[in-house]
Amino acid sequence: RLHNTIQELKGNIRVFCRVRPLLDNEAVDKDALPIKFPECEEDNEIELLQQSESAMGKTSTKTFPFKFDKVFGSESTQDGVFEEVSQLIQSALDGYPVCIFAYGQTGSGKTFTMEGAKKAGETNETLGIIPRAVRQIYETTEMLRSKGWEYTLDGQFVEIYNETIQDLLASSSSAIAGAAETKNKKVEVHKDKGGRTVVSGATTTRVDSPDAVNKLLERAAKNRTVAATQCNDRSSRSHSVFMLKIQGHNAVTSETCTGMLNLIDLAGSERLSSSGAQGDRLRETQAINKSLACLGDVIFAVGNGDKHVPYRNSKLTHLLQDSLGGGNSKTLMFVCISPSPSSAQESLCSLRFATKVN
Ligand code: ADP
Ligand code: MG
Repeated sequence: RLHNTIQELKGNIRVFCRVRPLLDNEAVDKDALPIKFPECEEDNEIELLQQSESAMGKTSTKTFPFKFDKVFGSESTQDGVFEEVSQLIQSALDGYPVCIFAYGQTGSGKTFTMEGAKKAGETNETLGIIPRAVRQIYETTEMLRSKGWEYTLDGQFVEIYNETIQDLLASSSSAIAGAAETKNKKVEVHKDKGGRTVVSGATTTRVDSPDAVNKLLERAAKNRTVAATQCNDRSSRSHSVFMLKIQGHNAVTSETCTGMLNLIDLAGSERLSSSGAQGDRLRETQAINKSLACLGDVIFAVGNGDKHVPYRNSKLTHLLQDSLGGGNSKTLMFVCISPSPSSAQESLCSLRFATKVN
């Protein structure tokens, strides 16, 4: 199929767009939303409508059409989204380096997509990509056991805040006893003897059961830096990167295979003006803007087949260097969109960013 050919040309970079539903506290006329889904055979088109007022006081509507590998509307389920992701998880098990990113302004559904909602009483239906991926990996490795395969899974979870990498798996007891020490522990990216990019100073945890992974995710959540902005009082101003190294060894055939699964919940992409940033917050926002721009540049350069890919321009792309564009790597970006009219301008920025890397 033509579609597949395009994928191959693009070096296995795919972009999915997901529009979250209106929330209960967003009292908006459903017919007045700036997001439209044109009727087409495949669910891969989306339009953003922007109202503008001319100097004469006349209102006109401009339509911005976008096309992605897949578009999920506000009725999409976590299950339906994961169906389209599950093949990539299998690729990681098969030995490919895989990155899945969630991009978008704060409140657009990045964390919902990556982790899911974990409120008390919520069922498994609301689980996001990370827990579903972990379940798939365990189910598959259990099945492969009968064919002689043994797998070890090693997880790291870091946060990139103001271009500094922090370990999110530092033990919670030490995080309480010596918060400053834990927070300042230096995590560095460098190359090992074999030329592989490695992270030093970050805890690596062997995860031998789904429960062990859940514990790991809980610990990371506790350690995560969360700061307030005008957009959302629990807005995340950092990138969180969950890295799972999957090593398989077959005792019967002596085959080995190493895959990497990187799941990245990016910092909010909202621009400076909408955050009303000053001082520390201004520096934070500049660091976020810079690293998101670098990510776009790297994915663009990889997709373009450029000889020089500017991985070193940000901590995030440096950290993910081996998994972003190294020949057999696979990248998926979710661009998350809020449907509300007040978000239209940010939505347009996000859609344009995503188009650049697509
Ligand atoms: P972000 O991580 O981009 O800041 P969140 O994932 O926290 O955004 O989403 C903001 C709010 O919207 C949360 O209350 C979340 O539960 C809700 N939400 C996001 N996406 C969906 C969705 N697809 N279905 C239902 N609720 C959603
Ligand atoms: Mg979030």
